[in-house]
Amino acid sequence: MIFSVVTCIFCKIGTGEIPAHKVYEDDSALAFLDIKPHAGGHTVVIPKKHGETVFDLSQDDVQKLMLSVTKTMQRIQYVLNPDGFNVGWNHNTAGGQVVPHLHIHIFPRYLNDNGGSMHSIITNPGNESVENIAKRFQKK
Ligand code: 5GP
Ligand code: ZN
Repeated sequence: MIFSVVTCIFCKIGTGEIPAHKVYEDDSALAFLDIKPHAGGHTVVIPKKHGETVFDLSQDDVQKLMLSVTKTMQRIQYVLNPDGFNVGWNHNTAGGQVVPHLHIHIFPRYLNDNGGSMHSIITNPGNESVENIAKRFQKK
């Protein structure tokens, strides 16, 4: 079932109950302009199957979603011709997620637009060394 959660604002955009400016659509995903853009052409891509995070999607659905993200970027490239992109998603509250329906942000970037890179999202490496963290991966 698609766009199945009646209280979800992104499901409501999917059904047309809440209007949005469509950028791209295919069988499994819908892309539309963010209502409070952080860049010209800031777009969000949502899977048509409701899931709160990427962990709630099947492997097949994730693969399809990534293809839809790429197609959306190509559409933005064709229409707006940006100089670059930042693409990613906020995962859970700690990651800045507000809307609990997985959505991938696409930020078109322009030379000298005063924005930062992905690295500017977080600059708090914590107290544990890279070597210690690597060991934890080896143990589990
Ligand atoms: P999050 O912080 O959950 O990753 O981002 C949610 C995004 O959805 C925000 O950038 C916000 O501006 C956008 N958004 C929230 N409600 C609406 C809406 O009703 N319509 C559109 N087009 N975007 C929305
Ligand atoms: Zn939803």
